[in-house]
Amino acid sequence: MAEVIVVGGGVGGMVAALLLARGGHRVALHERLDRLGGKLAERERAGFVFSLGPSLLTLPEVFRELGVARELVELDELCRYRFADGSELRAYRDPDRMAAEVDRLAPGEGAAWRAFHGWAANCLEASRRTFFAGPLGRRPERARIGDLLAVAPGRTLDGLARRFFRDPRLRQYVGRYATYAGSSPYRAPAALGCVPAIEHGDGGWYVPGGLPRLADDLAGLLIDAGVEAHTGSEVTGVLAGRSAVSGVVLASGERVSADAVVVNADAAALYGRLLPDDRRLRRIGRLGPSSSAFLLLAGVEGRTGGLPHHSVVFSADYRREFGDIFERRRPPEDPTIYIGCSAVDDPSQAPAGAENWVLLVNVPAGDPGRWPMTPDAYRDLVLERLARRGHDLSGRLRFVESFTPADLRDRYGAWGGAIYGTAYRGAFAPLRRPGNRGPRRGLYLVGGSAHPGGGLPLVAMGGRIVASLVEEDLPARRGTRVR
Ligand SMILES: Cc1cc2nc3c(=O)[nH]c(=O)nc-3n(C[C@H](O)[C@H](O)[C@H](O)COP(=O)(O)OP(=O)(O)OC[C@H]3O[C@@H](n4cnc5c(N)ncnc54)[C@H](O)[C@@H]3O)c2cc1C
Repeated sequence: MAEVIVVGGGVGGMVAALLLARGGHRVALHERLDRLGGKLAERERAGFVFSLGPSLLTLPEVFRELGVARELVELDELCRYRFADGSELRAYRDPDRMAAEVDRLAPGEGAAWRAFHGWAANCLEASRRTFFAGPLGRRPERARIGDLLAVAPGRTLDGLARRFFRDPRLRQYVGRYATYAGSSPYRAPAALGCVPAIEHGDGGWYVPGGLPRLADDLAGLLIDAGVEAHTGSEVTGVLAGRSAVSGVVLASGERVSADAVVVNADAAALYGRLLPDDRRLRRIGRLGPSSSAFLLLAGVEGRTGGLPHHSVVFSADYRREFGDIFERRRPPEDPTIYIGCSAVDDPSQAPAGAENWVLLVNVPAGDPGRWPMTPDAYRDLVLERLARRGHDLSGRLRFVESFTPADLRDRYGAWGGAIYGTAYRGAFAPLRRPGNRGPRRGLYLVGGSAHPGGGLPLVAMGGRIVASLVEEDLPARRGTRVR
């Protein structure tokens, strides 16, 4: 049995801890905040509940296989996209229904959507056999010769959208998937186009009571598996000799020894602070930070007829919007606005007759002190743009609360507020992320900033990959120690 310390109780850290404990290792998890879940966090105010992070669950079987037994709710409408010309696209899981919707929006493009969906499903299968199957640098056992071609190397996501669609609105809809990874469709690889195949294959799901209940369920499983979970316990350093790790230092000054340390904190925080390594930190810096978010939590009076759980209100000029975020590094003047309203499916999320709106705008990571306008002025701009695009909340707002990238940085410990880790830039971006094995024996990385990347199911898969690496290096059965 090995002694394993997990630094951070996000989904990646919790899944790694769970599987290692079930595999017979002694596992202690240290989380600096007073609750587990990381970005699966919420804010309650005056009877309104707001998710501060994930709002859509995909690939629910990844969590069911871990033992999460909670009944989940499948969304009928995955998302409603509203374009700058006022037209709308309703996305449904069923490919026939979706193709019909696309044809209704842009006659003749339904067949193009089917072709796109076929490409995305192929790309997803290839990714499952290769990229998602194990750590970077290892030859995937089930890989096929055509897998590299299936992910369209050399194309950007926007290039992929242009290959399939003539209608600019449909190109914008495809480009939106780059933002799931905090990236720009004009720089991100086409491989991110596999994400819609997940939504149209396995659906989009809601966790009753809010997505943070998933973290509560995982926390319960950790207790059952015998993981020692310490909340309010920050790790300030990883102890290591020249070749192997030997434990961690806690903020209290206590040193705790271990055979293996699994870091679920941001990779930049590991190499910048916990175990300084300038070369690796520079390499992460060269990849560039992901975007961040400007979040508005709004308690809204009354019910909005026909409002779905998830909506996206697009900007008029997508290229300019991403130029603002990734080149000019300022919040977009004409932002795309995501609206999440869980009260649509769950009355526990807002007082009777009211709605809990989460508005999310993609903005650059970094200090909002450098923005050309104050966060309050930007809040007003977002609400004004929303009103112009059909959602006028004036007269209906009970309150509105803003979270800037600096607030999210402090809350999530995310590098400069880069809440998705590094951006995906260039054809091989997924392969250039920090790997799961660290530079010392017994050191591992898991979570959104490491391979295989962010999104709840993917960080859970990362937890599985890391647990299998630890098991390979320190098999529980033989009681081998690294030192
Ligand atoms: C606004 C937003 C919306 C999103 N929407 C979705 C969505 O709809 N669907 C989806 O699937 N994904 C979504 N995501 C992505 C998803 O939230 C993340 O991929 C996932 O939660 C990241 O998990 P993680 O394992 O990387 O850990 P994190 O959630 O980043 O947690 C890391 C934990 O480590 C702790 N920690 C850090 N440093 C230390 C230290 N030194 N000592 C102790 N503890 C430490 C932190 O406090 C934190 O709890 C969204 C993300 C954001 C930010």
